[in-house]
Amino acid sequence: KSNDPQGYAPICYGFQDFYTRRMYQRAKDCGGRPIASAPDAWLDVIERYSNDNNKTLHRTERTTKCLNLGSYNYLGFAAADEYCTPRVIQSLKQYSVSTCSVRVDGGTTKLHTELEKLVARFVGKPAAIVFGMGYATNSAIIPALISKGDLIISDSLNHNSIVNGARGSGAAVQVFQHNNPSHLEEVLREQIARGQPRKYRPWKKILVIIEGIYSMEGELCRLPEIMAVCKKYKAYTYLDEAHSIGAVGKTGRGVCELLGVDPADVDIMMGTFTKSFGSCGGYIAASKEIIQHLKRTCPAHLYATSMSPPAVQQVISAIKVILGEDGTNRGAKKLAQVRENSNFFRSELQNMGFEVLGDNDSPVMPIMIYNPGKIPAFSRECLSQNLAVVIVAYPATPLLLARARICISAAHTREDLIKGLEVISKVGDLVGMKYLPIGPLNH
Ligand code: PMP
Repeated sequence: KSNDPQGYAPICYGFQDFYTRRMYQRAKDCGGRPIASAPDAWLDVIERYSNDNNKTLHRTERTTKCLNLGSYNYLGFAAADEYCTPRVIQSLKQYSVSTCSVRVDGGTTKLHTELEKLVARFVGKPAAIVFGMGYATNSAIIPALISKGDLIISDSLNHNSIVNGARGSGAAVQVFQHNNPSHLEEVLREQIARGQPRKYRPWKKILVIIEGIYSMEGELCRLPEIMAVCKKYKAYTYLDEAHSIGAVGKTGRGVCELLGVDPADVDIMMGTFTKSFGSCGGYIAASKEIIQHLKRTCPAHLYATSMSPPAVQQVISAIKVILGEDGTNRGAKKLAQVRENSNFFRSELQNMGFEVLGDNDSPVMPIMIYNPGKIPAFSRECLSQNLAVVIVAYPATPLLLARARICISAAHTREDLIKGLEVISKVGDLVGMKYLPIGPLNH
């Protein structure tokens, strides 16, 4: 039962082609309307008419202005900024949008080398390398680090870019239960025991891949426990901080800082510039030897056009603001604000009876919908009340674990958050999503 006032039947919008046709028929047979064709429920094409910290967006064809609770704009840098924007414009004038060259053949500007040094310093590793796309950082780097005869042990909920990188590497891949250090230990013990009869280690290298904050779960990695297991079994570690770098930790240095892990102990730190820094691209930070190896061998470094210079400048400027090197304490304020906003929003949602995944301090907040038939109703009703949220469903999650994913920003004011909570509460009642007992509200 979907509770949808417009009567959409419970089929999932993620089904394409073959599935859609079959399910469309089945939905019609049940007397409902298939949700794949729910045209008013999705954020199709958006437009932005004002510079208000990426807090609003318009759906072009309907010109409604929506409060944006879906963007990864954790620190509010996805908007004009008094420190970043003039520098980005200057770099655009000086270097243009693209170098039109690969890194090794004229595509490395002074900005690229400055960013690599700055990223290494920021995350606490000896060296770093940057790429034009976060997704490709994972999918191209993993195969450059590991190959046939090696073993990857990957968290079961790792991002698709990691899954594709692992598949493309030629290494054997094992999966451990999401964020479960004891199961990781079990898998490691089992794999190493395969060499026991002749007392050899059956894999040349073992690489354990995890994320700092899981993007569909809003959950912090159990990093200290996982690091201890990896140390015990001499496995290398690869940490994807796409959602945690710049977003958590006292000075924005991600989950290592938040959870008290020394970055020197993590072998490979990966992250993207598309969330907290309001730009594009990704990085790997590691030992000088690993970065040298990647610079010599990684096809995405040797054969892909380098990161766009204005995007590079945006990251350099954003990191400087975070570090207070712009001469103000705006960075520290942004970090404190995103933490305060996230914790407020999470606790209010929980008190309203929503089932919210994830941990305190995480700006990523999935609200469980479960029933795929409720997805279009939730999304459409929020949009009709000028609230833009992102819906995550199959195939990004298991079929019956559909959810709305809220992303909180330092740019949101308390009024924005209260407006968002009011709409979500009303729509949650309409759609039937308050699965838990209700507690006291604090606003
Ligand atoms: N890793 C993770 C964990 C992600 O969530 C994402 C995308 N959100 C990526 C990598 C890819 O990054 P990008 O969007 O910057 O290409």
